[in-house]
Amino acid sequence: MSLKWLNRLRPSTAMQGRHPWLVSAGLALVLSTLGNAPFWWALTQLPEVNSLRAYAGLIGIWAALTMLMWVFVNVVVWPWWRKPGGVLLLVMSMTASYFMAMYGVVIDPTMVANATQTNTAEVRDLLSLTLLLTLVLGVGVPGLWWWRLQPGVCVGWQRWSHQLGAVLVGSALTAVLLLLVFQDLASLMRNHTSLRYMLNPFNTVYAVGRLAKTEQAQRQQPLQSIGDDASARPIADKAAAPLLLLVVGETARAANFGIAGYQRPTTPQMQALQTQGDLYFFSQVQSCGTNTQISVPCMFSHLDRQAKADSTANYESLLDVLHKAGWAVLWLENQSGCKGVCDRVATVNTSELKEPKFCSAGECWDEIMLDGLSERVAALSAERRAIGTVVVMHQMGSHGPAYYKRSPPSHKAFLPECTDNALPSCDAQALRNAYDNSIAYTDYFLGQAVGWLKTQPQPTAMWYVSDHGESLGENGIYLHGMPYKMAPKEQTHVPMALWVSPAMRQHWAVDDACLRTQQAKPWSHDNWFHTVLGSADVKTGLYQAEMDITRACRR
Ligand SMILES: [Zn+2]
Repeated sequence: MSLKWLNRLRPSTAMQGRHPWLVSAGLALVLSTLGNAPFWWALTQLPEVNSLRAYAGLIGIWAALTMLMWVFVNVVVWPWWRKPGGVLLLVMSMTASYFMAMYGVVIDPTMVANATQTNTAEVRDLLSLTLLLTLVLGVGVPGLWWWRLQPGVCVGWQRWSHQLGAVLVGSALTAVLLLLVFQDLASLMRNHTSLRYMLNPFNTVYAVGRLAKTEQAQRQQPLQSIGDDASARPIADKAAAPLLLLVVGETARAANFGIAGYQRPTTPQMQALQTQGDLYFFSQVQSCGTNTQISVPCMFSHLDRQAKADSTANYESLLDVLHKAGWAVLWLENQSGCKGVCDRVATVNTSELKEPKFCSAGECWDEIMLDGLSERVAALSAERRAIGTVVVMHQMGSHGPAYYKRSPPSHKAFLPECTDNALPSCDAQALRNAYDNSIAYTDYFLGQAVGWLKTQPQPTAMWYVSDHGESLGENGIYLHGMPYKMAPKEQTHVPMALWVSPAMRQHWAVDDACLRTQQAKPWSHDNWFHTVLGSADVKTGLYQAEMDITRACRR
């Protein structure tokens, strides 16, 4: 049997020996069309795209983008790295396309920063069969064609002239096409800002460049000390030095908290503590960012959200200030790192422990942070503990998309759960069940933490606040990390609670009725720095009384 037909199937033969312009145009076409499928899909879904004229405009935009892509390919893919260069562009575009289509995210500098700071467990949670399929079809097939392709032979100056010629001719044609579609394009981009972040691979190139520039600027900044004047309130009875527990939640949105009015009983423990009169829930709290990378450093910074965003300066954190005031500080890390805020204080990475009761597959449920906690606290300097102790717990919380992994099998009140990382292919109810189980487990964890605080002899209190919220499919958006100005409220409205022991109530001389009136006021992560300083009774020029949530209620 003749196997000659096999030769015809070889993808490389299609353009063998063709003009280099045609070859690069082929790649540009794949990138602008297949590599930008979510962008085109988003455009066709816009309300203003409803007429024949509008569709003609889209075709014009497509032609302009393809031409621009052709210029781009000729600018970055040079002959000596033609093969890997083209494949790299395909990988960038198709991976970004997958995450945009699957989770409704967009690619901006903070999203790239998030991606570079991720760990293997987080990557594992994002892998799915759909991603594999996307990469096989979107990168494998065109990549194979590109790799085996041999453009028409040209040597030396010819290579340069072809490439330079393509850039010149392409730029001129792009300019003409852009002029023709300018009005349509400008109004679309103005009215739908998220489209700007959807153009592959320009979005990734821009985000990486921007991020590198910011990080470079930050690296050149020396660490600036803050709160050098910090001093603690003198404590007469050493055994009565206060103990504060700060719980930094993860991906918990206020909308799914029973205590905040959600119709499901996701927070029985918090509500029981509230009924006892010891817990206050703050119902209108805004996060600083929409991801951990932004929110956690911002919460522990003396700068407010806007100032923090505008500054590349490298400052010490709230924990440094408490340490300077003489307090004992302990950070328990059960997630992917404290993003610099705990660099100079005692830390324990509980996510690396191998305690079979709480851990499996390289990660641990949040209860691990309570395991052996008394011993960990006792190991801190006794001299400092006689002034005050602050323990910070950085939760794994409701980290997605594998919400079902965030609660132990014995804590599954809501079933069935979605166990597919490709969230849109999950049943909406099963997805909500998995997420709600993670919230209910956080509620249980907070209840256990309060239980531990109650066993401590000194005045104790707990502050809990989540770092950001989460989208669970509202308007086709999943996960979090949207640029702040376009983020849906599900990603920025976070739960915050305060639990106060009777001894701490006396120590603070705090008024219950007054604290109750504070609960419904609009607060944000900007208040955290000053509120914690106030709760610790630490004096420093950095402290702003009007930013302290409890100040007005303490005597
Ligand atoms: Zn987070």
